[in-house]
Amino acid sequence: MKTEFSLAQLADPDIAEADKILRACVHCGFCTATCPTYVLLGDELDSPRGRIYLIKEMLEKDRPPTAEVVKHIDRCLSCLACMTTCPSGVHYMHLVDQARGRIERDFSRPLAERALRAILGLVLPRPGLFRASMIMARLGRPFASLLATPGPEATPGLLRRIKAMLALAPTRLPPPGPSGGSVFPAVGEKRGRVALLQGCAQQVLAPRINQAAISVLTRHGIEVVLVKDEQCCGALTHHLGQDSDALARARANIRVWQKEAEQGGLDAILITASGCGTVIKDYGFMLREDRDFARPAAQISALAKDITEYLGGIELAPTTQKGDVTVAYHSACSLQHGQKITGLPKELLSKNGFVVKDVPESHLCCGSAGTYNILQPDIASRLRDRKIANIATVKPDMIAAGNIGCMVQIAGGTSVPVVHTIELLDWATGGPRPGLN
Ligand code: SF4
Ligand code: SF4
Repeated sequence: MKTEFSLAQLADPDIAEADKILRACVHCGFCTATCPTYVLLGDELDSPRGRIYLIKEMLEKDRPPTAEVVKHIDRCLSCLACMTTCPSGVHYMHLVDQARGRIERDFSRPLAERALRAILGLVLPRPGLFRASMIMARLGRPFASLLATPGPEATPGLLRRIKAMLALAPTRLPPPGPSGGSVFPAVGEKRGRVALLQGCAQQVLAPRINQAAISVLTRHGIEVVLVKDEQCCGALTHHLGQDSDALARARANIRVWQKEAEQGGLDAILITASGCGTVIKDYGFMLREDRDFARPAAQISALAKDITEYLGGIELAPTTQKGDVTVAYHSACSLQHGQKITGLPKELLSKNGFVVKDVPESHLCCGSAGTYNILQPDIASRLRDRKIANIATVKPDMIAAGNIGCMVQIAGGTSVPVVHTIELLDWATGGPRPGLN
């Protein structure tokens, strides 16, 4: 694609990066076929190619985004299916991330929307606040049906979004897991030492996931540390376009992980929520222009691994007789498109005795996408229903996924237990059967 940035514009490293990405696009449109919003809405401006044009116009003309541009960028799930499909290697993620930052900086959203986004950016990355908000949401849930909301709209209103938030709140919360600073020694001979990302929403909604990871790792000779003073990885605010918050969190994490690596040694930083993993693996890019952090950020990104990537290098020892358990494997977008991890989780499950089924249309997002199911509840619920109908065709006993957002989204529409891949691997190697509560 031909671009027309001035030399002065190209002196800005972000614009230079956008120019490189835009020039790689040859307008072929292959990406439209796998874009969930284009598949649902059929509007070129809700396809990757359409959005790329909108972003190009906005950046080239260096003008504030219009309401039309914002509507179509907001509808993008950042699922990155387009990056998997694109034959020209267009790095759509870095382009749309830049567009979201621009929108946050230069576009004045209606007051209610601004307030909602500010609250999400404030609450979600802080486990204490998030827990309190979940308790309040639980109390408010019985009144959700009283909130009169109009039918599906181009831009959903505040009440519809509040209703979506209430629907996502769990009926009860588990007790908190172990706190930062805890160390879990290896059982038997020590073969390695890793940090395990504590996460923010996940540690409130499902501490059992990291508990399962700790059990599997320590059982196989790996010491696990929950690093003190670690923060939310920044993914949630990054996707809201709140870049200064996301970068501050990235820097804070890099500092504490570096210190841990220097003091105790770290073979890897393991992540059980693939949405977080995709962003931590991108810290090197996000901080490439920061003189003090560029190098350490790249080092931290190189240490970051999804839990299944790390376990792929360890011979697990299955012990439990489970009988035939059919597992529908839901491939989270951040894992399959963001990190290009596709076959490994399924291989691990098969090797450890599960009957693993692929879900039809597995490239399509479930509609979770960070805060998307709150901000775009109509599109999100259509995607969820489609995902659940596809899952039902393989008649599973359980559904496995590697990302808490997908797990909550899918569990909201099915009675089949939805568990994390690591919980199944824990069960196979001596832990409890998951999905019983
Ligand atoms: S598939 Fe790639 S090159 Fe083709 S239009 Fe989409 S982004 Fe551009
Ligand atoms: S990230 Fe997903 S929703 Fe956004 S343009 Fe690409 S395929 Fe479509």
